[in-house]
Amino acid sequence: MDLRVAQNCPQCGAAVVLTETARLMTCSFCGTKNYLQSSGPFRYTLPMGQQRPPITSLLAPYVRFKGTIFLVTSRGIEHRVIDTTQAANPVPGLPPSLGVRPQAMQLLRIDQEGEARYLPQTLKASVILEKATAISNLTAQAGKDLYHRAYIGESLSYIYLPLVAKQEALFDGVTDSRLIGFEEVAGYPLLGKAFAQDWRVRFLATLCPQCGAGLDGAGDCQVMTCANCQTAWAFGPEGLSGVDWLLHPGDAATPLYLPFWKIAAHIPVLSIDSFADFVERTNQPFLPRPGWGERAMSFWIPGVKLRPKIFLQAGRQATLGQWQFKPVAGRVVPNLFPVTLPASEARQAVKLILAAATASPRRVFPYLPQVQLADVVMQLVYLPFIDKGHDWVQPETGVSIAKNILQWGRSL
Ligand SMILES: [Zn+2]
Ligand SMILES: [Zn+2]
Repeated sequence: MDLRVAQNCPQCGAAVVLTETARLMTCSFCGTKNYLQSSGPFRYTLPMGQQRPPITSLLAPYVRFKGTIFLVTSRGIEHRVIDTTQAANPVPGLPPSLGVRPQAMQLLRIDQEGEARYLPQTLKASVILEKATAISNLTAQAGKDLYHRAYIGESLSYIYLPLVAKQEALFDGVTDSRLIGFEEVAGYPLLGKAFAQDWRVRFLATLCPQCGAGLDGAGDCQVMTCANCQTAWAFGPEGLSGVDWLLHPGDAATPLYLPFWKIAAHIPVLSIDSFADFVERTNQPFLPRPGWGERAMSFWIPGVKLRPKIFLQAGRQATLGQWQFKPVAGRVVPNLFPVTLPASEARQAVKLILAAATASPRRVFPYLPQVQLADVVMQLVYLPFIDKGHDWVQPETGVSIAKNILQWGRSL
């Protein structure tokens, strides 16, 4: 479930509610459109009543992860959707998880005003996610039958729990329940640190860095487009960065274009340079055609959030059918579906799509731990889909995505 964040419009001050992953904010009162610029994950706090925590409070960090954990094992590819909020500081007495509390209340973005102190995040997100994997019974062991593990995140953020010190004890600032006596946490540093400047989120005008025109994008998009100069821009740690984008044209009546991240790469350990190499090494039930030896191998990762099974299927089919695409320079046409999976997450999915696309797991899975990508080139390619009743279907490759699933991916 998506969390909700209370936010004031930086222009007029009106109260706006955003989703936790929203990168674009349009104020319905003054019409101002901004994007949220941040160098790392967003940081929120639980409110105390409807209030901000008092300026002197101590805040304890929790890692919030929502997404899918994939394991490639000798049994195949397993996956589990994880939605968890786990304590990231080992001070005894902290609730190990925030449970459903973040979903029940509107979160507040932390800012540098006030003198709140933040307990450091001492447990790494990766360790916390591994714990979450264990909880979910995905128990394959590295070195035995586990060949690869990947987390494809939909959101990773930090949520702080306000703590209140009174009566010689720490109290949960939201529920006012006593967590632990001071004497039991005597050995733990409880001073906390000040707000770090690189946590700051800036609200910036959505103007094209190239031509200055207004950019288009949905609230949850990861890439905005400029209809004036036909460019595409992704949110990066340093600001908007240009995306090399293409479009495989459908006919004029094409009702939907879906984005895929095309990741061209060589895989030295499997001697895969070309698409023909890939077809041979992964033992596909068809022979390479003339010209496939000169076609650089690329992996096609859906640029939208999808259920794990559909995500793997769509990536596999687009990757196997890549020789049929004839993309041209990207241009803004009607019916471009927003990119909701960022390039960084797509990159995490390459080994998964390699595993999903192989016809001979035994020839490929054992090499996955050694697989490194070389000469990587990333592009965004929009593919046309046609309306087949309940499904959107990509005519060249047969990639089929149920209409309600595409909706699900956006609202999850
Ligand atoms: Zn406003
Ligand atoms: Zn422009």
